[in-house]
Amino acid sequence: MALLEIRNLHLSIARGSELLPVVQGVSFAIEENETLGIVGESGCGKSLTALAIMGLLEGSAVRIAGGSVHFQGRNLLALSQEERRRVMGNQMAMIFQEPMTSLNPVYRVGDQIVEAILQHRSMSRRQAHDRAFELLELVCIPDPMRRIDSFPHQMSGGQRQRVMIAMALACDPKLLIADEPTTALDVTVQKDVLELMCSLQARTGMSIVLISHDLGVISETCDKVAVMYRGRIVEQASTTTLFSNMNHPYTLGLFGSIPATDHDVEWLDAIPGRVPTLDETVSGCAFHPRCFAAKESCRTVDPEAASLSPSHIVRCHFPQGSSS
Ligand code: SF4
Repeated sequence: MALLEIRNLHLSIARGSELLPVVQGVSFAIEENETLGIVGESGCGKSLTALAIMGLLEGSAVRIAGGSVHFQGRNLLALSQEERRRVMGNQMAMIFQEPMTSLNPVYRVGDQIVEAILQHRSMSRRQAHDRAFELLELVCIPDPMRRIDSFPHQMSGGQRQRVMIAMALACDPKLLIADEPTTALDVTVQKDVLELMCSLQARTGMSIVLISHDLGVISETCDKVAVMYRGRIVEQASTTTLFSNMNHPYTLGLFGSIPATDHDVEWLDAIPGRVPTLDETVSGCAFHPRCFAAKESCRTVDPEAASLSPSHIVRCHFPQGSSS
């Protein structure tokens, strides 16, 4: 049984009297100790999918219109908020792109970690303080004895993201969802934070869902990849399979926009156009206005997801790869 299994998830957003689909039929599974990367441009539904898993859409304009989210075999969407909290308990945590918006600027980081620990564990404040110190050591904050009393603005962006990871680990989660955790960081710091997440996974056995717009980050970190475009998964495979045999023109476009490290290039290939807004109607394949491989049928017929192999799925009339 997978640790987390999303089946046919549909999300809609209310616009006046209309319900506009923002996530359509998303399905994937993640096993224990596995990392799944979800990649795509902004506005493709990656973060909304993550918020739906975490149960954080309550009070927003986004509605769950169908599907299921099974965690350790139980459908979280069929539970009340209270039951859901009990089932999930301490087992899922999420970190976001910009730690400054998640950390409270007027409290010392140590106190914020202590509060996170006390929410999940029954222990004295002294014990929680000791645990906060251990967590800062675990996420490799330099001089944790001093840093535990720092305010967020006294730390660098990379150190703040490490503090957020420490807070997420306060509950020993089985699943960590990281939504663009390194996008706001310098490239060198980005690498350190990703390596930290991988080493923590090796120590704790937690599973990770890593959301990114950067296929390069995903290739270095994940066991499998789901590529999302306009609310749908358009290609899904193990990382090895995907990078050896990309089939969807959108995946190829994302790959073409990664800067090469072994030779100079004057221009990076960019995917023309942009992701259509929710108000724009696109007939047939949603990617056809931007697709180099589009043919007449793409403009009228929406492609179904098809299996190229048991673990490689693509949603395209004219897959571009050789074979799986
Ligand atoms: Fe391109 Fe057609 Fe495939 Fe859509 S179905 S991605 S337009 S080739």
